[in-house]
Amino acid sequence: MDKIKRVINCVVPVKVCNFKCHYCYVGQNNVFNGKIEKLKYDNAHIQKALTKERLGGTCLINLCAEGETLLAPYLIDLVKRLLNNGHYVAIVTNGLITNKIEELCKFTIKQKSKLFIKFSYHFLELKKLNLTKNFFDNIKKIQNSNISFTVELTVNDESIPFIDDIKKDSLENLNFLPHVIESRNTTVDNFPRLTKLDEKEHLKIWQSFDSNLINFQTKEWMKKRCEFCYGGDWVLNLYLLNGDISICNGGGPKIGNIFEDINEPIHTYAIGNNCPFGHCFAAHFLLTFGVIPELNTPTYENMRERENWLQKEMKEFYSSKLIESNKEYSDDKKLLINTLRSIEENNDFDISECDNLSKKIEENLLQQNIKTIAIYNDDKFSKWLCELLSNTQIKVKYLYVLDSNYGLDSITNKFKHHYRYLYKKIKQNKDIILDKNDTWPHVDSIMITEYVDYLKHKELIKKKTNDKTILITELISK
Ligand code: SF4
Repeated sequence: MDKIKRVINCVVPVKVCNFKCHYCYVGQNNVFNGKIEKLKYDNAHIQKALTKERLGGTCLINLCAEGETLLAPYLIDLVKRLLNNGHYVAIVTNGLITNKIEELCKFTIKQKSKLFIKFSYHFLELKKLNLTKNFFDNIKKIQNSNISFTVELTVNDESIPFIDDIKKDSLENLNFLPHVIESRNTTVDNFPRLTKLDEKEHLKIWQSFDSNLINFQTKEWMKKRCEFCYGGDWVLNLYLLNGDISICNGGGPKIGNIFEDINEPIHTYAIGNNCPFGHCFAAHFLLTFGVIPELNTPTYENMRERENWLQKEMKEFYSSKLIESNKEYSDDKKLLINTLRSIEENNDFDISECDNLSKKIEENLLQQNIKTIAIYNDDKFSKWLCELLSNTQIKVKYLYVLDSNYGLDSITNKFKHHYRYLYKKIKQNKDIILDKNDTWPHVDSIMITEYVDYLKHKELIKKKTNDKTILITELISK
């Protein structure tokens, strides 16, 4: 039985849709531009980038466009390749691109056993365009092909007068009511519910669908998450356009890129106790898979299953939790991650709180025979690392500044205030700040602090020296 290793939420760059739903979070932000952008890398390259070996195990790859996902011309072939890699694949669709749905139905039994179609039920648009029958016919095609599926309606005030019709249509065609899911107002901070009704009235109406989805969302709505979250490691948000990754479905800051060099391991960077959102962006999805392992939640299978909508293999996979295939970080690793995130956020920061961390990093580096290091680039992380290592056996020998626009004199001057430990050496007239024109003396390792463009920097360093490089977020590996 497969257990989930990672959730990869893939943002498919299709900014066009055959529907115009007023509650659509994409339409709210005027993202539609009528374009299906060309991917920077082809499907064969993406398949190699997303092997089980590289990702660490069997993943759920969720494909969702900023418009209608199945309009992407490369999608069917890509889905096949991801399934052939051994992953489980979910596709979010409005269910009307019939030729593509029929192609999915022709997949092999093995491929179909790991495929999941999320049909978004847009009642008003279907009625307006007279396409209700096509929608349910396509669901039946998927169901008759033994592909797992779900049908969910995004709740909205305008559909309330038609609730009886929605229920009648669903019961007639599915023998069951659809799931219902909250719509978010993404034009304001913290994405509150998109409704003019008061909460009680809103919930009374929509909970009549008896859907675990909205029931779980209600429990989690507006709860700020402060626990340690593995978004950015166990969960990744992947921009299919170019391979950039960020922390979770909510987006958030870029962590790196996983398509540029597919021979390089994937460098992750969890968000830790610093979730940037007012409440968990996709709680029904990510919390139920256990992105915050200390929370006791139902399984994702529990969110999705209705009346045999999930096939056996999918049901078992959706019942697994991320903690079953991943190890929680050590306290030291958690401290490192939280400290780096805190520096990034410019939070007040007391270096003396990092005593344990400096010992642990010293221990780790000495174990690898690293006694002398250089730090690549001049930023808040390099300042912190210099201070942190100043009372250890690890000697910071140089600071490499490659892209300096403001000249070494100015950096040297800045050192008086920011890099007290290294400044002592400046006073002794040692050349410790080097740029791309200097010869770089050998050190045991070079610490790269700019994790977002790690690969680019690694390439530049390679041109100057063969010294080993370490990414700052990986100073403690587990
Ligand atoms: S708590 Fe949810 S929204 Fe916040 S970072 Fe984690 S997965 Fe993302």
